[in-house]
Amino acid sequence: MDRILKGLSRFQKSVYPKHRDLFQKLALGQRPEALFITCADSRIDPCMLTQTKPGDLFISRVIGNIVPPYPDAIGGVSATIEYAVGVLGVVDIIVCGHTDCGVMKGVLNPEPLEPLTSVTAWLNYAQPARKAVAQHEETHSGPEFLLALTERNVVEQLGNLRTHPSVAARLDQGDLRLHGWVYDLGEGVVTSYDPEKAAFVRLETPKPKLRAGRRS
Ligand SMILES: [Zn+2]
Repeated sequence: MDRILKGLSRFQKSVYPKHRDLFQKLALGQRPEALFITCADSRIDPCMLTQTKPGDLFISRVIGNIVPPYPDAIGGVSATIEYAVGVLGVVDIIVCGHTDCGVMKGVLNPEPLEPLTSVTAWLNYAQPARKAVAQHEETHSGPEFLLALTERNVVEQLGNLRTHPSVAARLDQGDLRLHGWVYDLGEGVVTSYDPEKAAFVRLETPKPKLRAGRRS
């Protein structure tokens, strides 16, 4: 806890003063552009990953980046989605899974988690992903299966998102986009689900526009 309190003190003494204008503007309201739904895993820092500032992302963190289908398990995740979409008017929703996810490992090997009844019940929402991957993969374990499960879980949660009336209404209006990402923790690489290819493809940095008169 010492390190956390020292960090807070450093924030107040040196970080806050540098960004005072931003924080004072944010104190009056927020207009985040995206809802970022990701795992609670301590190794994911959505703002560092996307180089966004306070006020840019509305973040929902929950183990396994799981979105229960509506109207199942009305709770924190569902309420956060409804608020982001219906009140804040975000225009993008990103569901971001990640490599080495303990929750996905728990889906493959549930026995040690059985005494944890809440975790076990929550993992049931990842079972459709496990079943879908098991139909296509030859082996049902190992790193490739874990990655396939992690990816499929993101796709399933995008499907669950569409069952939420607030999301469905905005999708019908055509002013909301859904994105499925998988973040490779060790490599710093993000892949994104491409529905046309039915596969995850590496997200490339947008190329800077050439300036007029610049020779290629
Ligand atoms: Zn995780």
